[in-house]
Amino acid sequence: MARYREAKCKLCRRAGEKLFLRGDKCDTEKCPQGRRPYPPGQHGKARIKPSEYAIRLSEKQKMQRIYGLNESQLRSYFKKASQKSGATGENLLQSLERRLDNVIYRLGMAPSRQAARQFVAHGHVKVAGRSVNVPSYLVKAGQVVEVFESSQANVKKLYPNLADKDVPAWLELNADQLQGKVVSLPTRDQIGTIVAENLIVEFYSR
Ligand code: ZN
Repeated sequence: MARYREAKCKLCRRAGEKLFLRGDKCDTEKCPQGRRPYPPGQHGKARIKPSEYAIRLSEKQKMQRIYGLNESQLRSYFKKASQKSGATGENLLQSLERRLDNVIYRLGMAPSRQAARQFVAHGHVKVAGRSVNVPSYLVKAGQVVEVFESSQANVKKLYPNLADKDVPAWLELNADQLQGKVVSLPTRDQIGTIVAENLIVEFYSR
């Protein structure tokens, strides 16, 4: 799959806010969103009133970048979300949150979703006792996600303060065993992602 390989924080400037695509980098001076809080490029400072379309488009792009998805991937999540009962926007966010790479990130076992994706793809993770190396795997309520015994020492070295991690209410972290349980599927207010999902629903419903 094609993947964006350029400066991640250029995307912070494009979105107009810190996206934490490289984890802590956005918390430091290194994230240019603090110093140059306008879009990148020659016309970044030009004052152009965005159209309704542009507002929805950029919100959709923000969601894509946060979760590391391309257009066709996000579109297929949207399609499934719109076929389920309930609010489409919340369904969409819920399925993105259930991705195995996102769960590893939320549990604090990787500094970013990108890093979590690689960690899963390299076969360090088990779900419900079985090896799963598919980052897009959707975890279910009640399932336990854990790090392979052989990789545990490494993870503990990298994240010695994991036990202090604030995990969202739909997850339960056992930092000692490097296990996370999906207590329930996340509701909108348990998902911290700052994105106006209604704009994305409108974008696709055009
Ligand atoms: Zn940044």
